[in-house]
Amino acid sequence: MSKTSIYGLTYEQLTDWLVEQGEKRFRADQVWNWLYKKRISNFNEMKNVNKETIELLDNSFVLHTLGEEIRQESKDGTIKFLFKLEDGNLIETVLMRFHYGLSVCVTTQVGCNIGCTFCASGLLRKSRDLSSGEIVEQIMNVQKHLDTMGNDERVSHIVVMGIGEPLDNFTNLMDFLHVVNDDRGLNIGARHITVSTSGLAHKIYEFADQDLQVNLAISLHAPNNDLRTRIMKINKAFPIEKLMKAVDYYLEKKNRRITYEYIMLRDVNDHREEAIQLANLINDHRHLAYVNLIPYNTVDEHIDYQRSQSESIQAFYETLKDRGINCGVRWENGADIDAACGQLRSKQIKKSKAV
Ligand code: SAH
Ligand code: SF4
Repeated sequence: MSKTSIYGLTYEQLTDWLVEQGEKRFRADQVWNWLYKKRISNFNEMKNVNKETIELLDNSFVLHTLGEEIRQESKDGTIKFLFKLEDGNLIETVLMRFHYGLSVCVTTQVGCNIGCTFCASGLLRKSRDLSSGEIVEQIMNVQKHLDTMGNDERVSHIVVMGIGEPLDNFTNLMDFLHVVNDDRGLNIGARHITVSTSGLAHKIYEFADQDLQVNLAISLHAPNNDLRTRIMKINKAFPIEKLMKAVDYYLEKKNRRITYEYIMLRDVNDHREEAIQLANLINDHRHLAYVNLIPYNTVDEHIDYQRSQSESIQAFYETLKDRGINCGVRWENGADIDAACGQLRSKQIKKSKAV
């Protein structure tokens, strides 16, 4: 059996494992420090840990399961990584620079089964979930890359918006969140982490019951069932009413602002009528709502969809604002490097099939 990634263990799981092996509890603290503060690339670097413990760890775990296939750097500082998993599958991770810090977008599944009609990630069905270790390792690899640049830069924010539906890989997602949030290690604040879902209502209840204060984003993209079902077939299983009931529960439990993502698709969902419907839909909890208007990144395979014109985006924005809805337009990062989520991966897969 191949060894698993040590990054998949939460602090508590690592402690339990070490104690089971007959080690003292404080070892966990030392090991954690080497993993996440000193960011070793080999267990032998753990100087204050005895040889037997190192051997024990080395026999059961590995520090590297991802290999860097491609790294694309954009003029605006965005870096896109294409990683190869141990089974040969490819995943994407993106580092983005903002005025408030460095944000990493992580992948949670190989492919996606939700199959939204506009998305590059959904072109390939899910072949498997990523393990918690594989998700944490994306952050570690980006952080280690920053470490080698020597500018003392730190990943400060995470968006779980890469390939896959995070709430469909719930346990691994939660372990990942606990690891990166742990203040003995990477210490990335929960309020700096956002999980985006296509709207798996039953999982939103479960998410609301967790004690982590991470942000939730919902990919709404349409304000009525007809249109939403047309562009996101998940809306059949979880229509807007069901989704909004889950939202009510989340707000009651957490009292935290929800972001509604809304891709601007030309002549599909960008009319004044839809802006009014959207404002009405979230009117009751508008004090805890933020609408993120996302100019669509065209995907070669989805020829039916184009990006809305800037005037339509502006008009949509104004209509929402006039109705007291907090909103903004997310202008993209890394426009010159296959910016749309899943694009680099799908291009690479196509290339490898062509040869
Ligand atoms: N599966 C989750 C998270 C990953 S997708 C979800 O759907 O929320 C992250 C966001 O990127 C979603 O809002 C998704 O709708 C959006 N997205 C997908 N394809 C896009 C594209 N081509 N252009 C712009 N945004 C896109
Ligand atoms: Fe999956 Fe999200 Fe893409 Fe939909 S938008 S296919 S849920 S990754």
